[in-house]
Amino acid sequence: MNTTLKSTPEGNVFDLKQTKMLKQISEDSPSKMRVFEKAYSTKSLRAAITAMCLQCVWMDTRAIRECTDTSCPLWNVRPFQTVRGK
Ligand code: SF4
Repeated sequence: MNTTLKSTPEGNVFDLKQTKMLKQISEDSPSKMRVFEKAYSTKSLRAAITAMCLQCVWMDTRAIRECTDTSCPLWNVRPFQTVRGK
């Protein structure tokens, strides 16, 4: 098992679970790395909510926009609710 902890140029170091998740994201959806790094390394609620929704539907922004689970506590504040350009 690779136990190398991931770190960023800014000096953030992620624990093993976070490193494992970041590795999976970098393979599946590298454009989503920054939001997870921000969620893991800051107290940004927006980054945390966005990362949680992305994790819930595994990086499918359309699924978040079209999410029908109104019982989810994040539903009203989920990201990607508006379509750019409309
Ligand atoms: S709002 Fe929808 S996509 Fe976001 S965490 Fe809840 S169920 Fe998942």
